[in-house]
Amino acid sequence: MDWWFHFPAVFWCVTVFTLGLMIGSFLNVVIARLPYEKSLVWPSSRCFACYQPIRLTDNIPVLGFLRLRGRCRACGATFSARYLWVEVGTGVAFLALFLAEVLFNWSGIPGMKYNYLGADGAFPPARFWALFLYHATLMSGLIAAAAIDAEHRIIPAQVTYTVMTVGVIGGVLMPWPWPQPAAAVDAIPPHFTSWILDDVAGKIPVGVQPWPFWGPTFDAAPPGSWKMGLLNSVIGAFVGSLVVRATKWFFETGFGREALGLGDADLLMMAGAFLGWQIPMLSLFTGAVAALVLKVFESVCWNSAPAARQGSSAGTPVSGPVQPRELPFGPGLAIGVVVTWFAWPWLGPKLQFPFFDGTTMLMLCGFMGVGLLAAALFMRRPAETPLTAVK
Ligand SMILES: [Zn+2]
Repeated sequence: MDWWFHFPAVFWCVTVFTLGLMIGSFLNVVIARLPYEKSLVWPSSRCFACYQPIRLTDNIPVLGFLRLRGRCRACGATFSARYLWVEVGTGVAFLALFLAEVLFNWSGIPGMKYNYLGADGAFPPARFWALFLYHATLMSGLIAAAAIDAEHRIIPAQVTYTVMTVGVIGGVLMPWPWPQPAAAVDAIPPHFTSWILDDVAGKIPVGVQPWPFWGPTFDAAPPGSWKMGLLNSVIGAFVGSLVVRATKWFFETGFGREALGLGDADLLMMAGAFLGWQIPMLSLFTGAVAALVLKVFESVCWNSAPAARQGSSAGTPVSGPVQPRELPFGPGLAIGVVVTWFAWPWLGPKLQFPFFDGTTMLMLCGFMGVGLLAAALFMRRPAETPLTAVK
């Protein structure tokens, strides 16, 4: 039987999934407490209705929830299904990340395919954990931001700025084209003013950070240096924030009400610190599509359970640094980031031309603006009918 040889892969998949469940459990605490400005560590987990502390064994991710069928052991109050979905979702997200980036090396980064049968041994070497934990942090930040936004219509800066800081630090420690040596960049012929030429573009080395700037890199921040990593992360964060702020008025002109908040800008800023500037830019577009799909799902669910939906939004206190919005864009935006990020190894090479050509980039920005305006106009229609009148 040769399955035994694959035991390390199975073992690490189970470990990573379990880690995801545990982090998901922690994210639930963040999601439940942060919007109320409560401490994350004190007091221990307790029932929101009777304030009885939740037993350690009942607090085991997923199993605790399922065993008591999502109810409080003391008073029988029903806990939100969100507790279960965030835990399972984080577990699945971590597993998917580990499969894609470590076991299958989805991005095709040289030397980043875990060879447990050969050179790497049964324990993945540090570079794999660095890559996985770095991106798992972003994934956790996106899940927390999306879930809080869905429930409270805010994206707390505590989540986005904290995670963004990890993104910048990781960028400094793993500068492009890490883990490839800086010499890998020498494959690009020098003195090219642009990287868009087909035969040259294919040779742009991939790293944990995507391609950094237009054309040749600056002498001040050579490839593989911490300055390059810092610039890459900071430019990514800046563009992520800017792209939301710039399109804010496009969207709101179409939507007629405030729909995009600075929290959405913070969400893409956070993603940009990890993924560079190209992915957040594109995520706005994929995020708008995802938000539209979610909106359709939401209206379907609304019709089936109007009371539950009403209760959850009425009991929400207005607190936090950002004013609540009518429509949560965060969940759609977070999905957009993940989709774009995972599609990047396929999308990236196809989009080298627009991303490395100024005129095309400008046209693309205009197109995205108009697209968002159209999407916003489309979303305006169902919202104009008072939902209480529908039933
Ligand atoms: Zn209770």
